[in-house]
Amino acid sequence: MKKPKPTMTPVVISDDKLQFLKKKVDDPNVLQFLKRDFIRETMGGTCSICEEPPTKIATYRMEGISVIERYCGKCLEKLSLK
Ligand SMILES: [Zn+2]
Repeated sequence: MKKPKPTMTPVVISDDKLQFLKKKVDDPNVLQFLKRDFIRETMGGTCSICEEPPTKIATYRMEGISVIERYCGKCLEKLSLK
C-alpha cells in the first residue's frame, strides 16, 4: 500500500540537549547502539531510514490510524517530502 502524503512537524529540542547529543554522536568512542539510545532518549526516536538524529516527524494518516516516522534532513531530501 502506498503511503499518503504525511504531515510534517519539526523535532523540537532544546539547544543544550542538542549540544549534548551532538557530542555523543560525534564521539568515536561511543558505541553505535549507545548513540542510538541517546538519540532515542533525546529526540524520541532515530531517523527511520539511516538511524541518524531526526529533524522532522512525519505523521501518516492511514485508515483511521496515525503512523509516525522520523527522518533526518538527508533522508528527507531523498524522499522529497519537504
Ligand atoms: Zn536519515
